[in-house]
Amino acid sequence: MNQKLDLELISLTKRYGATVAVDAIGYHFSAGTYACLLGPSGCGKSSTLRMIAGHENISDGSITLGGRDISHLPPAKRGTAMMFQNYALFPHLSVRDNVAFSLKMSGVDTATRRARAGEMLELVDMTALADRLPAQLSGGQQQRAALARALITKPDVLLLDEPLSALDPFLRIRMRAELKKLQRELGITFVHVTHGQDEALALADEIVVMNDAKIEQAGKTRNVFDTPKTAFVARFLGSHNVVAMPDGMIAVRSDALKVTPVEAAKLPGTITNIEYQGTHVALTATVPGKQEVTALLSDKEFFGNPKDLGEAIGLDWQAEAAHALAR
Ligand code: ADP
Ligand code: MG
Repeated sequence: MNQKLDLELISLTKRYGATVAVDAIGYHFSAGTYACLLGPSGCGKSSTLRMIAGHENISDGSITLGGRDISHLPPAKRGTAMMFQNYALFPHLSVRDNVAFSLKMSGVDTATRRARAGEMLELVDMTALADRLPAQLSGGQQQRAALARALITKPDVLLLDEPLSALDPFLRIRMRAELKKLQRELGITFVHVTHGQDEALALADEIVVMNDAKIEQAGKTRNVFDTPKTAFVARFLGSHNVVAMPDGMIAVRSDALKVTPVEAAKLPGTITNIEYQGTHVALTATVPGKQEVTALLSDKEFFGNPKDLGEAIGLDWQAEAAHALAR
């Protein structure tokens, strides 16, 4: 568990018949990274994760962990562990026996199994509930049990497929903080699949944005967010406007826009929506080319100089706030 093993995907491809679900993707995950695979439904995230885990055959390419080719090893021999979306706990087994299950399968004796399961339950703060059945647990508790069960094999890489999607929004935010804390404590690599950009931004050291079976952009989370390279990435990460200007397509963050007199601005606009968001006000305007642009103004900024629907305004930004997009 404490070795430093990088995970590498090399031209990794998955085909289901005529469908190319993952198209020759490559990425190097440094050991100990919290990485999120982010993208819309159907873009190939789960297929990628299942190939890393060994639950799906690879059509082409390879996967290495610490330089060792694991592409064709059985799941239990890879140094990876997977936590599933629905947790997949055995309903007839206690939490402790669920957690110890993989050790039982590999022939570890009862006393060692109990001791190791005990340590894992301690790690996820579930010691008091060890004798319960899964049905007697809340969603968050089931998730912790599933985590303990995945971690008992001491993986170098934990693979999580939409681990928070079954939880209500409040619990989701609490559990994501716990996931991050756990990853920091264990120091192992987490590869976490999500279609939620806020979840990815909150958790990830690195984001791999996927679109249509390919990696659209990947890298350090702040770099990807601050400098999206394509319109898809800018739109998917949110908080950006994608605007076609006379000299090409740009992305500019909503919070970088200023409302100015029309004459002084890069874009003239007409206000079509004003949304109060507590600390901020989102002001949307139509600009030339029937495009919509949203400026996120602080409440003080907006109410210091309030505007009305239908009013003509100018929208301006610092040149360095805009990024040219590839398409
Ligand atoms: P995501 O997790 O990003 O939603 P998936 O990896 O599940 O995407 O799916 C990627 C593509 O592969 C989709 O077009 C999906 O319909 C297809 N696909 C996934 N699993 C199978 C399967 N077992 N058989 C056939 N097609 C599949
Ligand atoms: Mg999926």
